[in-house]
Amino acid sequence: MSKTLKATQVDKCNGCELCSLEAQRQLKKVGLEESLIRIFRKKGKDPQTLVNSVEIDPRLNMLNIDKICEICPTSVLEIVDEVENQAK
Ligand code: SF4
Repeated sequence: MSKTLKATQVDKCNGCELCSLEAQRQLKKVGLEESLIRIFRKKGKDPQTLVNSVEIDPRLNMLNIDKICEICPTSVLEIVDEVENQAK
């Protein structure tokens, strides 16, 4: 069964973008433009706070997702079965 990367604990994301940079490094690209994993910041329920969201392009699966998962310092990311991911 194929595996995919999912942000299962996005509330822990600190916005460091190490995951985006690792994806770019594997593609031998510099900078964050057009990264297959992107971090967005938006206002939370309380307008004084910012919350992060993680957007993962399905093409990320062609990369070494284990390395991308491991680089996250706050364990936001998890490798799950692709079928399980679609059911959620
Ligand atoms: S590496 Fe983890 S904490 Fe950093 S931006 Fe990516 S998901 Fe968020």
